[in-house]
Amino acid sequence: MSVSKKPRTVTLIPGDGIGPEVVHATCRLIAATGAELEWDEQIAGRAVFESGDNTGVPQATIESIKANRVALKGPLETPIGFGGKSANVTLRKLFETFGNTRPARVYPGIETPFSDRDIDLVVVRENVEDLYAGIEYMSTPGVAQCLKLISVKGCEKIVRLAFELAVAEGRRSVTCVTKANIMKLSEGTLKRTFERIAEEYPGIEPNFMLVDNCAHQLVRQPEAFDVLVTTNMNGDILSDLVSGLVGGLGLAPGANIGRDAAIFEAVHGTAPDIAGKDLANPTATMLSGVMMLRHLGLFEAADKMEGAIAVTLEEGPRTGDICGEGPRCGTTGFTDAVIGNLGRTPANWKAKDYRPLRMPEVGPDPVFVRPQRRRTLGLDVFVESGDSPEELGKRVEEIVQESPLYLKVISNRGTVVYPPTGTPTDCVHAWRCRFLLRDHAAELDDEALYGLVRSFAGKLRVNGVTRLEELDGERGYTLSQGED
Ligand code: NAP
Repeated sequence: MSVSKKPRTVTLIPGDGIGPEVVHATCRLIAATGAELEWDEQIAGRAVFESGDNTGVPQATIESIKANRVALKGPLETPIGFGGKSANVTLRKLFETFGNTRPARVYPGIETPFSDRDIDLVVVRENVEDLYAGIEYMSTPGVAQCLKLISVKGCEKIVRLAFELAVAEGRRSVTCVTKANIMKLSEGTLKRTFERIAEEYPGIEPNFMLVDNCAHQLVRQPEAFDVLVTTNMNGDILSDLVSGLVGGLGLAPGANIGRDAAIFEAVHGTAPDIAGKDLANPTATMLSGVMMLRHLGLFEAADKMEGAIAVTLEEGPRTGDICGEGPRCGTTGFTDAVIGNLGRTPANWKAKDYRPLRMPEVGPDPVFVRPQRRRTLGLDVFVESGDSPEELGKRVEEIVQESPLYLKVISNRGTVVYPPTGTPTDCVHAWRCRFLLRDHAAELDDEALYGLVRSFAGKLRVNGVTRLEELDGERGYTLSQGED
């Protein structure tokens, strides 16, 4: 990150609900630190949806972030009943901010069941893939499906970001958190990528943990964690858990990091119940501002701002969400107090040393993995049917009797139901029929592949088709429960 003498322009999106209050409080504080920034204020969210723009993000805002590459943003409301997809998710995806970093550190003066614990960790969450790719279908009128899409490239970017962040913040370990025992290919891709990349960082201890155990360990011994790297859905849940450990949403900052842009924002939403009442806690947005200053290379201003926030939390007054029995103030009073404390050092809290974060270098080539050998050995055909497993099995076997492929199994919600297993699986009307080549050593060509699919025409309703591949001798698909 270059340290420029010229004032840097940052895109400012005040957002909805409590957004304008906490964002403008943060701008006031940043100005008081002496950091030379210029703001380019833009809109997104509710007003944009209401104007009829279904994206929630106007072109002027996109152009501003493109030009400035850094944004400070308030929360955006996702309207229910009108408007399109979440404008937050749209911004993250448009600018490919692949990493979401959410630090959680115990600040002085905050009463929680964990106040006396030395919690100081960062969750690095993959931010654009996984279930949040938003690829969903009604496979049949009664069965919904969501594609969990995880790429080696996406994993490599996030794993490198986690290790680089550990280096920049002088941290000792990175824990890779997955559910790779169940989702061996998708979640397993993060684990395997982590194993490979960890070797490049011999000074940092690599750990693995399953996400369910991680949730348990985070509550039992949160001080044992340093950097956690995880997939999007796991990270969404775990990062809210860790913000709960250190005092709640009013204190939880975040950064969305990409190669072309970084967007800094609190974890919390628009909190409409307290909007416009001078009640919101601006700390989370202020701490997001601290992260932004460090991203811009303005380490001195960042340290000054963080120190003043820590002094204010330590001594009070604090906003209603965290004041306990101590003196209470509003958004404005808290901001005035922090500004008044600039230059002071907290008695019971020590600042960390930060170095510039080196952004991971991952090439732009969309073909990220090139296997030496690949072979298609079969096909999964997804069909809709109200038949019993036995009826469906017989019908399908009849359909494919002339094909070079044979029906290996039919599964229902991932469990083999045909050939009959004698177990009482409660079936729904979405089925997966697995076909393999009768000649196990052969390669499935396009003619046989499309021929098989065509043979279903007018006989069974096909909802989807997926190749079964072997990649460098490894099976590129998982077995159904009960399949051997
Ligand atoms: P929320 O806005 O985070 O608010 C949940 C509750 O947390 C609030 O009602 C308030 O509780 C408390 N709270 C949150 N931030 C606070 C702060 N800075 N100071 C004091 N208290 C705070 O979650 P939500 O109600 O589920 O979501 C509301 C809207 O925000 C939705 O439209 C959602 O889509 C959107 N959202 C946006 C983002 C984003 O832009 N990144 C993130 C999450 C949600 P009390 O009742 O105790 O006052």
